[in-house]
Amino acid sequence: MSTPNSDSHANGNGKDPVAAWSPSSWRSKPVKQCPEYPDLKALRKATAELEQLPPIVHPYEINKLKENLRDVAQGKAFLLQGGDCAELFDYCRQGVIESKIKLLLQMSLVLIWGANKRVVRIGRMAGQYAKPRSSPMETVDGKQVPSFRGDILNGYHLDDRELDPQRLVKAYNHSAATLNYVRAALASGIADLHRPLNWGLGHVKDPELKAKYSEAVRFLTDMIRFSHTIGADKSSEISTVDLFSSHEGLLLEYEESLTRRMENPAYALPGEGSRMEYYDTSAHFIWIGDRTRQIDHAHVEFFRGIANPIGIKVGPTTPVSDLLELLRTLNPSREVGKITLITRYGADKVRELLPNHIRAVEGSEYKGCVIWQCDPMHGNTRSTGSGIKTRRFNDIFSELQETLQVHQEEGSYLGGVHLELTGDAVTECVGGSEGLDEDDLSTNYTSFCDPRLNEKQALELTFLVADHFRK
Ligand code: PEP
Ligand code: MN
Repeated sequence: MSTPNSDSHANGNGKDPVAAWSPSSWRSKPVKQCPEYPDLKALRKATAELEQLPPIVHPYEINKLKENLRDVAQGKAFLLQGGDCAELFDYCRQGVIESKIKLLLQMSLVLIWGANKRVVRIGRMAGQYAKPRSSPMETVDGKQVPSFRGDILNGYHLDDRELDPQRLVKAYNHSAATLNYVRAALASGIADLHRPLNWGLGHVKDPELKAKYSEAVRFLTDMIRFSHTIGADKSSEISTVDLFSSHEGLLLEYEESLTRRMENPAYALPGEGSRMEYYDTSAHFIWIGDRTRQIDHAHVEFFRGIANPIGIKVGPTTPVSDLLELLRTLNPSREVGKITLITRYGADKVRELLPNHIRAVEGSEYKGCVIWQCDPMHGNTRSTGSGIKTRRFNDIFSELQETLQVHQEEGSYLGGVHLELTGDAVTECVGGSEGLDEDDLSTNYTSFCDPRLNEKQALELTFLVADHFRK
């Protein structure tokens, strides 16, 4: 596990040779958001257990996603990534998983119609259990208690807030069970387009919007019927889809334990020789959060050694000069599509900040190398007068629209969206055609972390993006 990997980690910036990397080399760096487990023996027992367990995802699947992401970076496909802010172990249920798969599928159909491109789907699911927090403690009912840090670390209930290392093993089990059902449901035709989809546009009151959405639905229904008539739907391309898994790679003890040196299947062909790589087998795609992307810190150190495609959150606190340094550290060989820059500024800041970030990257040796993805959620979180965390649909849409426009002006390609959403009828974000307002938030507010778009709001946002592409 801890043998330094000397095969493939040369520095791209031509300065000092890069120090040897290993799955545990992050431990010698300063680390943010790191849990202080009181019982180190129990932690060691849990990570030893994880190290014995099989990979959750396979390098073959990771390579497949990388091929897809290469197409996204080159403007040939669009990336849709979505799911909960904080996934709970309790969401590992048939209905919850199915409603999310169906929503992502439906959204991708709308995007295919709008952008006229293939859509690559990644769920924020099957492992999105660790949350960065602004403070390790919070006040509840006048009492100071440890903050909820995600099910992989502690529990939401007040008597469950102590860090428990056995949760690492539970996270593995819930992640594996979720992904197992995703794979089984997809292989059994949950994404089969012969099944009627419920587009439920009844809530859309604005006649112009309703006409627009109805046109898209008519087109999609006709297209599906037509494919069926000519037999084109028999191809596995249409009757089944891929859904890849992702989460924030925050808890490095967990990520390290699931990082394995394995053969890269792309080189395992006769005459190709073989090539060993380190794969983080906890998910197909992991990302570095906004609070942990310091260049000389532990998270960047861990991420620079894994072969998975990775994301980096980029926001108002990302200096332009850090961007290139991050790319050079994390992707010295300039693999196309290896890095997704997930931008999240806030509706009121995107126009001021995004152009310089685009120019820095696209004006460098990384031109055409990254995927630009818009996360219109995290820069638009606010609290109501009574202290409920929410987001306005209009702010979310406005950041997305501005981002699309800025990319168009700069001659770059916005290759994807990153959304917090759920297939359930929650009332956490205000606005949208349903007209949810602050008084409605208490009706069905179930998120334990950030507010998510509900099914109707998520579809509506997708229609609006599709509309942009069709203009
Ligand atoms: C998140 O994606 O849930 C998150 C915490 O985002 P960010 O790191 O961008 O704040
Ligand atoms: Mn969030």
